[in-house]
Amino acid sequence: METIGYAAFSASSDLKPYHFKRRVLRDNDVAIEILYSGICHSDLHTVKGDWGQQPYPLVPGHEIIGQVISVGKNVQKYKVGDKVAVGCMVDSCQCCDQCKQGEEQYCRNGLTLTYGAPDRITGEITQGGYAKHIVVREEFVLKVPSQLDLSRAAPILCAGITTFSPLKKWNVKKGTKVGVIGFGGLGHMAVKLAVAMEAEVTVITRSNSKQDVAKKLGAKDVLVTADMDAMEKSVAKFDLIIDTIPVKHDLNVYLPLLDIDGTLVIVGQLGAMDELNTSPLIMGRRRIAGSLIGGIKETQEVLDFCAKHNIYPECKLITPQEINDSYHHLEKGDVAYRFVIDMSKMSI
Ligand code: NDP
Ligand code: ZN
Repeated sequence: METIGYAAFSASSDLKPYHFKRRVLRDNDVAIEILYSGICHSDLHTVKGDWGQQPYPLVPGHEIIGQVISVGKNVQKYKVGDKVAVGCMVDSCQCCDQCKQGEEQYCRNGLTLTYGAPDRITGEITQGGYAKHIVVREEFVLKVPSQLDLSRAAPILCAGITTFSPLKKWNVKKGTKVGVIGFGGLGHMAVKLAVAMEAEVTVITRSNSKQDVAKKLGAKDVLVTADMDAMEKSVAKFDLIIDTIPVKHDLNVYLPLLDIDGTLVIVGQLGAMDELNTSPLIMGRRRIAGSLIGGIKETQEVLDFCAKHNIYPECKLITPQEINDSYHHLEKGDVAYRFVIDMSKMSI
């Protein structure tokens, strides 16, 4: 199938329109017309080569909302016209213990990312959601609950699941004291989801200017990291901290904020961190953990959870022509709170 998208051609040049082919439908494939595609900070990291050399041209995008336009002959769950979604992965081995328990993101044989990864059958590089169409095997396609507004749902597929998964894993419930570091795409979804779980949520931010929005989204408190007094008063306050900072940073600033037995879950920075002082870990049996997106079952769960609780990411709709501009805003941390590409504005 011929399609058009926006691709990066190098780590430093702007994304440009790119005509390419999606694979011929396999028997278990679903062909999707993409309607909306979110822009995640991971797209920027990948395109810029922060995570290593990339196979350019590369079409980013792993927060995908669309509708089914055709299905392979063995597809059971979907039919033409269904509203569907695709997140950060499009394949896995389907037979290891992790895949079998619905944690395909930790597939023992390696997950296949939505873009920039070799297809498990042909070895061709997968291309993501900044495009008019995508073809994905049935098992990695999600159902969009009928009550969700399609134009506002895309960021649930990455920002939503990446924060929902640790909130669930660490058993967040009524009264759990949750801190969220970095109030951006992931951070604002962490707040909305944790508030819906009836946790007591604090936004931990560099910015004085985000106080009002954080409170509006349900945060009980806002802790500005430059306010040393407030930081001191927040020592041992949190059961769980979700850290979404996208760059190398100093964990020693945040670890003392955990209560005894508390856990800081890193979802942002992938790679080296500043030198770690282990004292707060040892003295309070505190833990540092990491977490990668979430499995397919859990991704369906977060879509259904958002529909049930009327939770939406704060989306700013843009045209495909505005992708490069949105990357500049993302780089400056100037996003309120997720850019979403309206694919109907793409000409083919
Ligand atoms: P955003 O840019 O939307 O938000 C990041 C926030 O972090 C900013 O709003 C800002 O919040 C804070 N921040 C930014 N720069 C700095 C800095 N230099 N020092 C301290 N704080 C900073 O990014 P996303 O939410 O889209 O993504 C966040 C990270 O999560 C990225 O690295 C992304 O790759 C990663 N990610 C990880 C996934 C996983 O599975 N683990 C999945 C998806 C994304 P404030 O102004 O409030 O301080
Ligand atoms: Zn993402």
